[in-house]
Amino acid sequence: AQADIGLIGLGTMGAALALNIAEKGFPIAVWNRTTEVTHRFKAEAGDLADRVIPTDSLKDLVAAIKTPRAIILMVPAGAAVDQQLEALTPLLDKDDLVIDAGNADFHDTNRRSEGGLPFHFLGMGVSGGEDGARHGPAIMGGGTQADWDRVAPILTAIAAKAEDGVPCAARMGDAGAGHFVKMVHNGIEYADMQMIAEVYGLMRDGMEMDAAAISKVFTDWNEGPLQSYLIEISGKVTEATDPHTGKPMVDVILDQAGQKGTGRWTAIEAQHLAAPIPVIEAAVMARNVSAQLQQRKEGQDRFGIAPKHHGFSPTTLEQALIAGKILCYAQGFAMIAAASEKFGWTLDLPGIARVWRAGCIIRSAMLNDMAEALAQDPSRNLVMAPFFADLLEKAMPSLRQVVSEGIAAGHALPALASGLMWFDMMRTARGTANMIQAQRDFFGAHGFKRLDGLDDPHGPWGMGR
Ligand code: NDP
Repeated sequence: AQADIGLIGLGTMGAALALNIAEKGFPIAVWNRTTEVTHRFKAEAGDLADRVIPTDSLKDLVAAIKTPRAIILMVPAGAAVDQQLEALTPLLDKDDLVIDAGNADFHDTNRRSEGGLPFHFLGMGVSGGEDGARHGPAIMGGGTQADWDRVAPILTAIAAKAEDGVPCAARMGDAGAGHFVKMVHNGIEYADMQMIAEVYGLMRDGMEMDAAAISKVFTDWNEGPLQSYLIEISGKVTEATDPHTGKPMVDVILDQAGQKGTGRWTAIEAQHLAAPIPVIEAAVMARNVSAQLQQRKEGQDRFGIAPKHHGFSPTTLEQALIAGKILCYAQGFAMIAAASEKFGWTLDLPGIARVWRAGCIIRSAMLNDMAEALAQDPSRNLVMAPFFADLLEKAMPSLRQVVSEGIAAGHALPALASGLMWFDMMRTARGTANMIQAQRDFFGAHGFKRLDGLDDPHGPWGMGR
């Protein structure tokens, strides 16, 4: 046996990850369900082929890896993972380690971690798409510290490095913790993308800017506080031309967003945790509405096209996006804190922000500041950290203006508006839930607490009182 590690599943992500591992000097044994893919992979590995050991069966794969073995699984989440774990069971020793690097539902990872697999198991979220996997992804691990430490040299070698040189690979906590953090990462990714799409819509429909002009705005923003991968690629996609028609590429793309479920999982889990993440929920909702092409067409036929011309300065839109982004991340981190408590994970919030600084889809300059703010006091909501409270104070008037005027002009701004709504609720000491409590007590005798502390939990309404 000569391989330092093995990998199952040479699809988009698996192939890129295997080349990354080989490039960093680790001999890697690979196996793919379709054998010709394995051999093509070796043939196309170029300079790295020396460190790639193709195998035609799981038995050969296992035999090719130094003991105690480590094997990365990079197959579709769900049944395929269980199938592979089952197939590996008779072949592996109890000291061997299997790492599920796909986008598993963290509940599945919890189940697999606790379900008596006869070998060690890590759940690992990998972000950055194909390019990230090839040249440096962000890696979020879940499992025991000892299992993480065994493969940490390889994982930190292949991970992206932040500006300060720190690798974007870390153990988040036990069992499903890594996949949980990856899930919330994806939820935030949905929200970031949706808020950018909403601002794009204001420019396209409200200000009648063409794609080239919009591209320039995004490109400018990428030099400022919004500097991030998603703003950068927004500038690039709006700049591109369709080779078939010569039109701007974005103008010929159907407005129906795909999704593989991680945003939806985040929204569902947030409900279980009673963690308010309205910006992410709005982003998931917006993808769902985007899929309803026929209904939207009928809606427009019946009610007319809504958006009316309305102009904003790019600076106002930029400030609105800054505010929306802070609010969204504040919600995401608060959800992670809630999960940490519920599942007993002791998740390291600043550590998570640090892992997200490079390699992953939501990497951005602002995550540096978030990591710092969370390090000062991880138990404080991000919006209350002095740095972000100051930024928000400056940016909120723009968000309020963009949402109120945009909505008045008929633009759909679900994510930005949800951020604003949450902000206004969380800064209101005397809310309106006293009305809810009165109603609940009226119809269900559920009782309430009084402001003056008097112990009389029911109102003077009926039912023999
Ligand atoms: P691909 O569809 O490109 O590749 C899937 C791989 O899994 C192929 O090698 C395929 O083999 C293999 N496979 C499928 N079913 C089985 C099975 N039942 N048993 C054994 N092998 C199987 O997927 P991706 O590489 O895009 O995704 C892999 C995982 O990574 C997923 O969980 C995905 O959610 C996650 N992920 C993907 C990202 C992306 O940007 N694409 C980003 C981050 C995570 P065969 O050649 O025989 O079909």
